[in-house]
Amino acid sequence: MSLEKRYLMNTFSRLPVAFVRGEGVYLYDLDGKRYLDMVAGIAVNILGYGVKELIDALQLQINELIHVSNLYYSIPQLLAAQKLVSNLFPGKVFFCNSGAEANEAAIKVARKWGKLNKTGAYKIVSFTGGFHGRTLGALAATGQNKYKLYFEPMPEGFILLPYNQVDALEATLSEQDVVAVIFETIQGESGVVPADPGFIEEVARIAKSHNVLVIIDEVQTGLGRTGYWYSYQRLGIEPDIVTVAKGLGGGIPCGACVVSEEVDCLEPGDHGSTLGGNLLACQAACTVLDYIESHGLISNAASQGLYLEQGLDSIAQRYKDFVAEQRGYGLMRALVLSQPIAKRFESECLSQGLIVNAIGDHIIRMVPPLVVQKEHIDSTVEVMDRVIRKLLATGQ
Ligand SMILES: *Cc1c(COP(=O)(O)O)cnc(C)c1O
Repeated sequence: MSLEKRYLMNTFSRLPVAFVRGEGVYLYDLDGKRYLDMVAGIAVNILGYGVKELIDALQLQINELIHVSNLYYSIPQLLAAQKLVSNLFPGKVFFCNSGAEANEAAIKVARKWGKLNKTGAYKIVSFTGGFHGRTLGALAATGQNKYKLYFEPMPEGFILLPYNQVDALEATLSEQDVVAVIFETIQGESGVVPADPGFIEEVARIAKSHNVLVIIDEVQTGLGRTGYWYSYQRLGIEPDIVTVAKGLGGGIPCGACVVSEEVDCLEPGDHGSTLGGNLLACQAACTVLDYIESHGLISNAASQGLYLEQGLDSIAQRYKDFVAEQRGYGLMRALVLSQPIAKRFESECLSQGLIVNAIGDHIIRMVPPLVVQKEHIDSTVEVMDRVIRKLLATGQ
Protein backbone atom coordinates (compact mmCIF):
# COMPACT_ATOMS: atom_id res chain seq x y z
CA MET A 1 0.00 0.00 0.00
CA SER A 2 2.82 2.39 0.74
CA LEU A 3 4.51 1.57 -2.59
CA GLU A 4 1.23 2.27 -4.37
CA LYS A 5 0.98 5.70 -2.74
CA ARG A 6 4.61 6.40 -3.58
CA TYR A 7 4.78 5.15 -7.19
CA LEU A 8 1.38 4.77 -8.84
CA MET A 9 -0.92 7.44 -10.14
CA ASN A 10 -4.09 7.39 -8.14
CA THR A 11 -6.38 6.14 -10.91
CA PHE A 12 -8.03 3.23 -9.09
CA SER A 13 -9.45 2.80 -5.61
CA ARG A 14 -8.27 -0.71 -4.82
CA LEU A 15 -9.61 -3.36 -2.50
CA PRO A 16 -7.03 -4.34 0.16
CA VAL A 17 -5.92 -7.62 -1.37
CA ALA A 18 -3.18 -8.89 -3.74
CA PHE A 19 -3.94 -12.06 -5.68
CA VAL A 20 -0.97 -14.20 -6.57
CA ARG A 21 -2.41 -17.42 -8.04
CA GLY A 22 -5.52 -18.72 -9.76
CA GLU A 23 -7.14 -22.03 -10.54
CA GLY A 24 -10.47 -22.59 -12.25
CA VAL A 25 -12.85 -19.95 -10.91
CA TYR A 26 -10.77 -19.36 -7.77
CA LEU A 27 -8.10 -16.81 -6.89
CA TYR A 28 -5.64 -17.04 -4.00
CA ASP A 29 -4.14 -14.13 -2.09
CA LEU A 30 -0.70 -13.73 -0.48
CA ASP A 31 -1.82 -15.65 2.61
CA GLY A 32 -3.21 -18.53 0.57
CA LYS A 33 -6.85 -17.57 1.24
CA ARG A 34 -9.19 -18.75 -1.53
CA TYR A 35 -11.75 -16.51 -3.26
CA LEU A 36 -14.56 -17.41 -5.66
CA ASP A 37 -14.15 -14.93 -8.51
CA MET A 38 -17.42 -13.62 -9.95
CA VAL A 39 -15.66 -10.67 -11.64
CA ALA A 40 -12.94 -12.38 -13.73
CA GLY A 41 -10.70 -9.35 -14.10
CA ILE A 42 -13.76 -7.39 -15.34
CA ALA A 43 -15.03 -9.90 -17.91
CA VAL A 44 -11.48 -10.67 -19.08
CA ASN A 45 -10.60 -14.09 -17.67
CA ILE A 46 -13.43 -15.83 -19.46
CA LEU A 47 -11.77 -19.26 -19.42
CA GLY A 48 -10.99 -19.04 -15.70
CA TYR A 49 -7.48 -19.52 -14.32
CA GLY A 50 -4.67 -22.00 -14.90
CA VAL A 51 -6.15 -23.25 -18.18
CA LYS A 52 -3.69 -25.76 -19.62
CA GLU A 53 -4.57 -25.12 -23.28
CA LEU A 54 -4.00 -21.37 -22.90
CA ILE A 55 -0.82 -21.72 -20.86
CA ASP A 56 0.64 -24.26 -23.30
CA ALA A 57 -0.21 -22.15 -26.35
CA LEU A 58 1.27 -19.02 -24.77
CA GLN A 59 4.37 -20.87 -23.60
CA LEU A 60 5.00 -22.27 -27.06
CA GLN A 61 4.56 -18.83 -28.62
CA ILE A 62 6.83 -17.21 -26.05
CA ASN A 63 9.51 -19.78 -26.74
CA GLU A 64 9.26 -19.23 -30.49
CA LEU A 65 8.62 -15.50 -30.95
CA ILE A 66 6.67 -12.88 -28.97
CA HIS A 67 6.55 -9.92 -31.31
CA VAL A 68 7.63 -8.86 -34.79
CA SER A 69 5.40 -5.79 -35.60
CA ASN A 70 2.86 -5.41 -38.35
CA LEU A 71 5.50 -4.86 -41.02
CA TYR A 72 5.38 -8.61 -41.69
CA TYR A 73 2.80 -11.35 -42.08
CA SER A 74 1.71 -13.05 -38.86
CA ILE A 75 0.07 -16.47 -38.97
CA PRO A 76 -1.58 -16.22 -35.50
CA GLN A 77 -3.03 -12.83 -36.51
CA LEU A 78 -4.49 -14.21 -39.74
CA LEU A 79 -6.00 -17.20 -37.93
CA ALA A 80 -7.43 -15.04 -35.14
CA ALA A 81 -9.05 -12.74 -37.73
CA GLN A 82 -10.53 -15.71 -39.57
CA LYS A 83 -11.98 -17.13 -36.35
CA LEU A 84 -13.40 -13.76 -35.25
CA VAL A 85 -15.08 -13.11 -38.59
CA SER A 86 -16.52 -16.64 -38.71
CA ASN A 87 -18.77 -15.76 -35.76
CA LEU A 88 -19.74 -12.28 -36.98
CA PHE A 89 -20.26 -11.37 -40.67
CA PRO A 90 -18.13 -11.20 -43.81
CA GLY A 91 -15.68 -8.52 -42.76
CA LYS A 92 -12.17 -7.33 -42.01
CA VAL A 93 -10.34 -7.07 -38.69
CA PHE A 94 -8.04 -4.47 -37.17
CA PHE A 95 -6.25 -5.69 -34.06
CA CYS A 96 -5.32 -3.44 -31.15
CA ASN A 97 -4.69 -3.77 -27.41
CA SER A 98 -7.85 -2.60 -25.64
CA GLY A 99 -11.51 -1.75 -25.85
CA ALA A 100 -10.88 1.98 -26.08
CA GLU A 101 -8.54 1.42 -29.02
CA ALA A 102 -11.06 -0.86 -30.74
CA ASN A 103 -13.63 1.94 -30.51
CA GLU A 104 -11.12 4.56 -31.71
CA ALA A 105 -10.55 2.38 -34.77
CA ALA A 106 -14.32 2.10 -35.29
CA ILE A 107 -14.72 5.88 -35.07
CA LYS A 108 -11.91 6.45 -37.59
CA VAL A 109 -13.28 3.89 -40.05
CA ALA A 110 -16.71 5.51 -39.79
CA ARG A 111 -15.29 8.99 -40.38
CA LYS A 112 -13.32 7.89 -43.44
CA TRP A 113 -16.36 6.04 -44.76
CA GLY A 114 -18.34 9.26 -44.32
CA LYS A 115 -15.73 11.26 -46.22
CA LEU A 116 -15.81 8.80 -49.11
CA ASN A 117 -19.47 7.80 -49.18
CA LYS A 118 -21.63 10.35 -47.39
CA THR A 119 -20.45 13.77 -48.51
CA GLY A 120 -18.14 14.19 -45.55
CA ALA A 121 -20.62 13.35 -42.79
CA TYR A 122 -18.62 12.76 -39.61
CA LYS A 123 -20.92 13.07 -36.60
CA ILE A 124 -21.26 10.09 -34.31
CA VAL A 125 -24.31 9.53 -32.14
CA SER A 126 -24.05 7.71 -28.81
CA PHE A 127 -26.31 7.31 -25.77
CA THR A 128 -26.44 8.45 -22.16
CA GLY A 129 -25.12 5.84 -19.76
CA GLY A 130 -22.92 4.26 -22.44
CA PHE A 131 -19.23 3.58 -21.89
CA HIS A 132 -16.73 3.26 -24.72
CA GLY A 133 -13.32 3.88 -23.11
CA ARG A 134 -11.02 6.56 -21.72
CA THR A 135 -9.13 7.81 -24.76
CA LEU A 136 -10.47 11.10 -26.06
CA GLY A 137 -12.51 9.83 -29.00
CA ALA A 138 -14.00 6.93 -27.06
CA LEU A 139 -14.52 9.28 -24.11
CA ALA A 140 -16.36 11.78 -26.30
CA ALA A 141 -18.78 8.97 -27.22
CA THR A 142 -19.14 7.92 -23.59
CA GLY A 143 -22.43 8.99 -22.03
CA GLN A 144 -21.35 9.68 -18.45
CA ASN A 145 -20.22 13.19 -17.64
CA LYS A 146 -18.26 12.18 -14.56
CA TYR A 147 -15.55 10.71 -16.80
CA LYS A 148 -15.26 13.89 -18.87
CA LEU A 149 -15.31 16.49 -16.12
CA TYR A 150 -11.65 17.56 -16.08
CA PHE A 151 -10.85 16.75 -19.68
CA GLU A 152 -12.92 19.14 -21.76
CA PRO A 153 -12.95 20.13 -24.51
CA MET A 154 -13.90 16.81 -26.03
CA PRO A 155 -13.18 16.19 -29.74
CA GLU A 156 -15.88 17.63 -31.99
CA GLY A 157 -18.56 15.75 -33.82
CA PHE A 158 -20.18 13.67 -31.11
CA ILE A 159 -23.88 13.84 -30.27
CA LEU A 160 -25.18 12.32 -27.05
CA LEU A 161 -28.83 11.22 -27.05
CA PRO A 162 -31.04 9.78 -24.31
CA TYR A 163 -30.87 5.97 -24.07
CA ASN A 164 -34.12 4.16 -24.86
CA GLN A 165 -35.70 7.13 -26.67
CA VAL A 166 -36.30 6.41 -30.30
CA ASP A 167 -37.87 9.77 -31.17
CA ALA A 168 -34.75 11.73 -30.28
CA LEU A 169 -32.70 9.52 -32.59
CA GLU A 170 -35.14 9.78 -35.45
CA ALA A 171 -35.17 13.58 -35.15
CA THR A 172 -31.39 13.87 -34.94
CA LEU A 173 -30.71 11.61 -37.91
CA SER A 174 -33.26 13.56 -39.96
CA GLU A 175 -31.72 16.94 -39.15
CA GLN A 176 -27.99 16.33 -38.94
CA ASP A 177 -25.21 14.79 -41.01
CA VAL A 178 -24.54 11.75 -38.91
CA VAL A 179 -22.18 9.02 -40.09
CA ALA A 180 -22.58 6.42 -37.33
CA VAL A 181 -24.33 5.46 -34.15
CA ILE A 182 -22.40 3.57 -31.43
CA PHE A 183 -23.92 1.74 -28.47
CA GLU A 184 -23.83 -1.21 -26.11
CA THR A 185 -26.78 -3.61 -26.13
CA ILE A 186 -26.38 -3.90 -22.34
CA GLN A 187 -24.60 -0.99 -20.69
CA GLY A 188 -21.90 -2.59 -18.57
CA GLU A 189 -19.97 0.11 -16.76
CA SER A 190 -23.07 2.08 -15.86
CA GLY A 191 -24.36 -0.96 -13.96
CA VAL A 192 -25.52 -3.74 -16.31
CA VAL A 193 -28.42 -1.82 -17.83
CA PRO A 194 -30.09 -3.70 -20.70
CA ALA A 195 -31.75 -1.57 -23.35
CA ASP A 196 -35.56 -1.53 -23.26
CA PRO A 197 -37.07 -4.32 -25.41
CA GLY A 198 -37.20 -3.18 -29.01
CA PHE A 199 -34.95 -0.14 -28.60
CA ILE A 200 -31.82 -1.60 -30.18
CA GLU A 201 -33.81 -3.04 -33.09
CA GLU A 202 -35.35 0.39 -33.67
CA VAL A 203 -31.95 2.10 -33.49
CA ALA A 204 -30.61 -0.27 -36.13
CA ARG A 205 -33.67 0.21 -38.35
CA ILE A 206 -33.62 4.01 -38.10
CA ALA A 207 -29.87 4.13 -38.69
CA LYS A 208 -30.12 1.97 -41.83
CA SER A 209 -32.96 4.10 -43.16
CA HIS A 210 -30.69 7.18 -42.90
CA ASN A 211 -27.62 5.43 -44.32
CA VAL A 212 -25.97 5.71 -40.89
CA LEU A 213 -23.47 3.03 -39.81
CA VAL A 214 -24.29 0.85 -36.80
CA ILE A 215 -21.31 0.34 -34.47
CA ILE A 216 -21.94 -2.13 -31.64
CA ASP A 217 -19.56 -2.07 -28.70
CA GLU A 218 -19.34 -5.72 -27.64
CA VAL A 219 -16.23 -5.16 -25.52
CA GLN A 220 -18.02 -6.39 -22.38
CA THR A 221 -21.03 -8.26 -23.79
CA GLY A 222 -19.16 -10.24 -26.46
CA LEU A 223 -17.48 -13.65 -26.64
CA GLY A 224 -20.34 -15.73 -25.27
CA ARG A 225 -21.11 -13.81 -22.10
CA THR A 226 -24.81 -13.32 -22.79
CA GLY A 227 -25.38 -16.83 -24.10
CA TYR A 228 -24.67 -15.77 -27.69
CA TRP A 229 -21.31 -15.21 -29.38
CA TYR A 230 -22.26 -11.52 -29.42
CA SER A 231 -25.12 -9.92 -27.56
CA TYR A 232 -26.58 -8.25 -30.69
CA GLN A 233 -27.15 -11.70 -32.20
CA ARG A 234 -30.13 -12.32 -29.90
CA LEU A 235 -31.81 -9.28 -31.52
CA GLY A 236 -31.61 -10.23 -35.19
CA ILE A 237 -29.90 -7.01 -36.29
CA GLU A 238 -26.92 -6.50 -38.60
CA PRO A 239 -24.23 -4.09 -37.44
CA ASP A 240 -21.65 -2.57 -39.77
CA ILE A 241 -18.90 -2.54 -37.16
CA VAL A 242 -18.38 -4.56 -33.98
CA THR A 243 -15.70 -3.91 -31.36
CA VAL A 244 -14.31 -6.65 -29.12
CA ALA A 245 -11.67 -6.68 -26.36
CA LYS A 246 -11.70 -7.59 -22.64
CA GLY A 247 -11.89 -11.44 -22.80
CA LEU A 248 -10.42 -11.79 -26.29
CA GLY A 249 -6.85 -12.47 -25.15
CA GLY A 250 -7.89 -14.38 -22.01
CA GLY A 251 -5.84 -11.89 -19.99
CA ILE A 252 -3.26 -10.94 -22.64
CA PRO A 253 -4.13 -7.44 -23.93
CA CYS A 254 -5.98 -7.85 -27.22
CA GLY A 255 -8.75 -5.87 -28.88
CA ALA A 256 -10.34 -5.98 -32.30
CA CYS A 257 -12.45 -3.79 -34.53
CA VAL A 258 -14.38 -5.81 -37.11
CA VAL A 259 -15.96 -3.98 -40.05
CA SER A 260 -18.22 -5.39 -42.74
CA GLU A 261 -16.72 -5.85 -46.21
CA GLU A 262 -18.90 -3.01 -47.59
CA VAL A 263 -17.66 -0.53 -44.98
CA ASP A 264 -13.97 -1.54 -44.96
CA CYS A 265 -12.07 1.46 -46.38
CA LEU A 266 -8.74 1.89 -44.56
CA GLU A 267 -5.45 1.93 -46.43
CA PRO A 268 -1.83 1.79 -45.26
CA GLY A 269 -1.08 4.89 -43.22
CA ASP A 270 -4.69 5.53 -42.15
CA HIS A 271 -4.43 3.70 -38.86
CA GLY A 272 -2.11 1.37 -37.01
CA SER A 273 -0.66 0.06 -33.78
CA THR A 274 2.88 -1.09 -33.03
CA LEU A 275 1.92 -3.82 -30.59
CA GLY A 276 -1.67 -4.36 -31.76
CA GLY A 277 -2.32 -7.95 -32.80
CA ASN A 278 1.15 -9.18 -31.96
CA LEU A 279 2.03 -12.85 -32.08
CA LEU A 280 1.46 -13.54 -28.39
CA ALA A 281 -1.86 -11.64 -28.22
CA CYS A 282 -3.21 -13.32 -31.35
CA GLN A 283 -2.08 -16.76 -30.22
CA ALA A 284 -4.04 -16.06 -27.05
CA ALA A 285 -7.10 -14.93 -29.06
CA CYS A 286 -6.96 -18.06 -31.26
CA THR A 287 -6.84 -20.26 -28.18
CA VAL A 288 -9.65 -18.40 -26.42
CA LEU A 289 -11.92 -18.53 -29.47
CA ASP A 290 -11.24 -22.24 -29.99
CA TYR A 291 -11.73 -23.02 -26.30
CA ILE A 292 -15.11 -21.24 -26.14
CA GLU A 293 -16.25 -23.40 -29.04
CA SER A 294 -14.74 -26.73 -28.01
CA HIS A 295 -15.88 -26.49 -24.38
CA GLY A 296 -19.42 -25.31 -25.09
CA LEU A 297 -18.92 -22.13 -23.06
CA ILE A 298 -21.68 -20.21 -24.83
CA SER A 299 -24.38 -22.68 -23.84
CA ASN A 300 -22.82 -22.89 -20.38
CA ALA A 301 -23.08 -19.09 -20.10
CA ALA A 302 -26.75 -19.34 -21.10
CA SER A 303 -27.66 -22.10 -18.64
CA GLN A 304 -25.54 -20.91 -15.71
CA GLY A 305 -26.74 -17.37 -16.43
CA LEU A 306 -30.30 -18.57 -16.00
CA TYR A 307 -29.34 -20.37 -12.80
CA LEU A 308 -27.63 -17.25 -11.46
CA GLU A 309 -30.72 -15.23 -12.37
CA GLN A 310 -32.88 -17.63 -10.35
CA GLY A 311 -30.47 -17.43 -7.40
CA LEU A 312 -30.47 -13.64 -7.45
CA ASP A 313 -34.26 -13.66 -7.83
CA SER A 314 -34.55 -15.76 -4.68
CA ILE A 315 -32.39 -13.24 -2.82
CA ALA A 316 -34.48 -10.36 -4.15
CA GLN A 317 -37.64 -12.15 -2.99
CA ARG A 318 -36.23 -12.95 0.45
CA TYR A 319 -34.90 -9.45 1.13
CA LYS A 320 -37.47 -7.18 -0.52
CA ASP A 321 -36.38 -4.14 1.49
CA PHE A 322 -32.70 -4.70 0.82
CA VAL A 323 -32.70 -5.56 -2.88
CA ALA A 324 -34.42 -3.28 -5.41
CA GLU A 325 -33.97 -5.62 -8.39
CA GLN A 326 -31.70 -8.02 -10.21
CA ARG A 327 -31.06 -7.75 -13.94
CA GLY A 328 -28.85 -8.71 -16.87
CA TYR A 329 -28.38 -11.41 -19.50
CA GLY A 330 -26.47 -14.67 -19.29
CA LEU A 331 -23.39 -14.27 -17.14
CA MET A 332 -23.56 -10.48 -17.06
CA ARG A 333 -25.74 -9.64 -14.09
CA ALA A 334 -26.33 -7.08 -11.39
CA LEU A 335 -27.98 -6.99 -8.02
CA VAL A 336 -29.35 -3.52 -7.32
CA LEU A 337 -29.42 -2.60 -3.62
CA SER A 338 -32.03 -0.29 -2.14
CA GLN A 339 -29.52 1.39 0.17
CA PRO A 340 -26.31 3.11 -1.00
CA ILE A 341 -24.07 0.43 0.50
CA ALA A 342 -22.63 -1.36 -2.53
CA LYS A 343 -19.02 -0.72 -1.43
CA ARG A 344 -19.74 -2.15 2.01
CA PHE A 345 -21.47 -5.16 0.44
CA GLU A 346 -18.49 -5.71 -1.88
CA SER A 347 -15.95 -5.68 0.94
CA GLU A 348 -18.08 -7.94 3.18
CA CYS A 349 -18.27 -10.43 0.31
CA LEU A 350 -14.51 -10.17 -0.17
CA SER A 351 -13.80 -10.94 3.45
CA GLN A 352 -16.07 -14.00 3.09
CA GLY A 353 -14.11 -15.17 0.06
CA LEU A 354 -16.40 -13.94 -2.71
CA ILE A 355 -15.32 -11.42 -5.36
CA VAL A 356 -18.09 -9.20 -6.75
CA ASN A 357 -17.85 -5.67 -8.14
CA ALA A 358 -19.52 -2.56 -6.72
CA ILE A 359 -20.52 0.04 -9.31
CA GLY A 360 -21.49 3.34 -7.75
CA ASP A 361 -23.45 3.18 -4.49
CA HIS A 362 -26.20 0.72 -5.37
CA ILE A 363 -25.04 -1.85 -7.92
CA ILE A 364 -23.23 -5.16 -7.49
CA ARG A 365 -21.95 -6.48 -10.83
CA MET A 366 -21.11 -10.09 -11.66
CA VAL A 367 -19.25 -11.05 -14.85
CA PRO A 368 -17.75 -14.43 -13.87
CA PRO A 369 -15.60 -16.73 -16.00
CA LEU A 370 -17.76 -18.52 -18.57
CA VAL A 371 -16.70 -21.88 -17.07
CA VAL A 372 -18.59 -21.22 -13.82
CA GLN A 373 -20.74 -24.16 -12.59
CA LYS A 374 -23.89 -24.57 -10.47
CA GLU A 375 -21.95 -25.22 -7.26
CA HIS A 376 -20.14 -21.86 -7.64
CA ILE A 377 -23.41 -20.04 -8.15
CA ASP A 378 -24.88 -21.79 -5.13
CA SER A 379 -22.01 -20.57 -2.97
CA THR A 380 -22.29 -17.06 -4.44
CA VAL A 381 -25.95 -16.95 -3.42
CA GLU A 382 -25.13 -18.42 0.01
CA VAL A 383 -22.43 -15.85 0.74
CA MET A 384 -24.64 -13.00 -0.43
CA ASP A 385 -27.44 -14.25 1.80
CA ARG A 386 -25.05 -14.32 4.78
CA VAL A 387 -23.70 -10.85 3.96
CA ILE A 388 -27.18 -9.37 3.69
CA ARG A 389 -28.19 -10.89 7.04
CA LYS A 390 -25.04 -9.48 8.63
CA LEU A 391 -25.64 -6.02 7.16
CA LEU A 392 -29.26 -6.10 8.30
CA ALA A 393 -28.24 -7.21 11.80
CA THR A 394 -25.76 -4.36 12.12
CA GLY A 395 -28.35 -1.85 10.91
CA GLN A 396 -26.42 -1.67 7.56
C1 LIG B 1 -14.30 -1.92 -20.69
C2 LIG B 1 -15.04 -1.32 -21.83
C3 LIG B 1 -14.41 -0.48 -22.76
C4 LIG B 1 -12.99 -0.03 -22.60
O1 LIG B 1 -12.08 -1.09 -22.68
P1 LIG B 1 -10.56 -0.85 -22.21
O2 LIG B 1 -9.90 -2.13 -22.58
O3 LIG B 1 -10.59 -0.56 -20.75
O4 LIG B 1 -10.06 0.31 -22.99
C5 LIG B 1 -15.14 -0.03 -23.85
N1 LIG B 1 -16.42 -0.37 -24.01
C6 LIG B 1 -17.07 -1.18 -23.14
C7 LIG B 1 -18.50 -1.53 -23.38
C8 LIG B 1 -16.41 -1.66 -22.02
O5 LIG B 1 -17.05 -2.42 -21.14
